[in-house]
Amino acid sequence: MRIGHGFDAHRFCEGDHVVIGGVRIEHRQGMLAHSDGDVLIHAICDALLGAMALGDIGKHFPDNDPAFKGIDSAVLLERVMKEVAAAGLKVGNLDATVIAQAPRLGSHIGAMRERLASLLNTSAGQVNVKATTTEKMGYTGRGEGIAAHAVVLLVPEE
Ligand SMILES: [Zn+2]
Repeated sequence: MRIGHGFDAHRFCEGDHVVIGGVRIEHRQGMLAHSDGDVLIHAICDALLGAMALGDIGKHFPDNDPAFKGIDSAVLLERVMKEVAAAGLKVGNLDATVIAQAPRLGSHIGAMRERLASLLNTSAGQVNVKATTTEKMGYTGRGEGIAAHAVVLLVPEE
């Protein structure tokens, strides 16, 4: 078994939606990023790469590479999952926390779990997503951006 942890944060910018966990959520701001700014998927990619001792997302998908400009982060996760399969591993389970003062995420958690389970080739029962605020403390609390943590367990593909 291999365990990995990932963290990511992105700053808000002008826009009308954010993408979190592969789910588009209407919001009065967008996410400033080279890709679509999906903090949760980025944290999950880092957790998967970390579990395999393969570095991090920046090493695999450099943010100065025009090939990744505006890219759907689900595509990045699919590429990381190819590495997981190549290593003879599969996702055992995932637990993640998204830290955002806004938008409210509670009603989107189910859709995120379904989407992530599909991308991770597992079932929604193996995927947990939690959303929290920091009670208006710190950069997420001031509404400057969104952060996410993810922990993933990889197990041998039988
Ligand atoms: Zn990111």
